[in-house]
Amino acid sequence: MLDLVIKGGRVVTPTGVGEWDVAVQGERIVGVMLPGSLNEDAQKTIDATGKIVVPGGIEAHTHVGFPHRDQIWGNVTAGPEDLSLAALWGGTTTMMDFAIATQPDGGDVLEAVHRHTDLFKDRMYIDYSVHCSFHGPSTTTRNIPQIKDLISAGFPSIKVYTTNHAPRPNRPITMISTGQLVSIMEQTAQHGGIVAIHAEDDEIVQWNYEVAREKEEWAWYYLPEIRSNLSEDLAVRRTIRVAEHTGSAMYIVHTSAKEGVNAIAESRSKGFPVDGETILLYCSFNSENYKEPDGMKYHTYPSTKSEGDRLRLWDGLMRGDLNILATDAIGTSYEDKTRGRTVVDVQGGNIGIEIRMAVAYSEAVVQQGMSLERYVAITSANPAKLLGFYPRKGAIAPGSDADITIIDPSVKKTLTMKDLHLGDYNPWEGWPVEGWPTVVTLRGKVMVENGAFMGSPADGRLIPRKIDPSVLKRPIV
Ligand SMILES: [Zn+2]
Repeated sequence: MLDLVIKGGRVVTPTGVGEWDVAVQGERIVGVMLPGSLNEDAQKTIDATGKIVVPGGIEAHTHVGFPHRDQIWGNVTAGPEDLSLAALWGGTTTMMDFAIATQPDGGDVLEAVHRHTDLFKDRMYIDYSVHCSFHGPSTTTRNIPQIKDLISAGFPSIKVYTTNHAPRPNRPITMISTGQLVSIMEQTAQHGGIVAIHAEDDEIVQWNYEVAREKEEWAWYYLPEIRSNLSEDLAVRRTIRVAEHTGSAMYIVHTSAKEGVNAIAESRSKGFPVDGETILLYCSFNSENYKEPDGMKYHTYPSTKSEGDRLRLWDGLMRGDLNILATDAIGTSYEDKTRGRTVVDVQGGNIGIEIRMAVAYSEAVVQQGMSLERYVAITSANPAKLLGFYPRKGAIAPGSDADITIIDPSVKKTLTMKDLHLGDYNPWEGWPVEGWPTVVTLRGKVMVENGAFMGSPADGRLIPRKIDPSVLKRPIV
């Protein structure tokens, strides 16, 4: 007897969209079959007639609130339970955090990463893994070769910054040099990893802070001029050149400017495995929103940009210049999010993790006519491929984990905090949505079903990752 059958829905699979029944045994999908062709009973049947059945969302970019290194306001951001609970309600079943692999004392990178992932045990409602961050001052000729060990241990994504934080006392130094980037990319190219890059030109950014101080343009809404389009343009192009020379796969995190999208598109058109992530915040708001009295809630680094940039981000997601739609999730209270009011202390991150799947469906599929296949690509399948979860995650296919989200396209509502499960504010409050995830399963277990919640913080697991060699050789779409 089967454990679960999802019947009658429009199912988005790697080979197309159709009306199929999805059969689940244990933690895996065992069949995607024509309606009525199933001749086995099931413990539980979910009727998905009129609904859309997609692989559970994969959130490529979150910052979980421990260990808490870079907040000005102390340990304020949401922990693993809070973020993963909101993710799950919103149809996301796997998420990525960041672990700092390089320690100032020169300790072993794999140990550092395991120390970080140990903190998640019994505290996650959904599956997870971490990107391994290399910070400039502690990146050495001794620990760069350990990237090989990280990759073979199931952590093939390395995160780096080409800029530092705002000039303020005791800021941690994150930026790596171009020389360090070359050595890191030589390792990822050789051993099958990918580099995720926060790309801004530090010389421009830090100079712009000085200019802004001089001109007394110090309110938070001047950030788009400091974290400028030119800064993204130069840094993205520079890192892409290093990738092209070394043969490493890479992607730009939170692409915010049209220049960034254009640079990525150019390299992809030459056949390089270069990709781009953007975030829902940058796709939903623009620099005019910053000027609202509490407009700091629309900020995460680098910055929200102009309306023209916002439209190019959607265009990039549509055409395949950008292939990951993430959030840069950080859960804070409204008070914490709006306390910093200057270009050096405004709080980064945003509470978008719960609404990502629904708002993306509403904005992309309903409003802009994006295909269901493309919607699944940017919210689940492509992050799964680029980060090495695929085909275990990101696909409704026999053998894949039964991580399934059922979206009811008939739900029409204006978002209120009553719909949501994280924090006391949300930048998308008042946003009209059409379509909402009503059922979510994690490895075969029904976690959310029409408002009922069956998940537990012991359900989430650390998932070892390996990127398919084909993903590392040419651009995916
Ligand atoms: Zn981030």
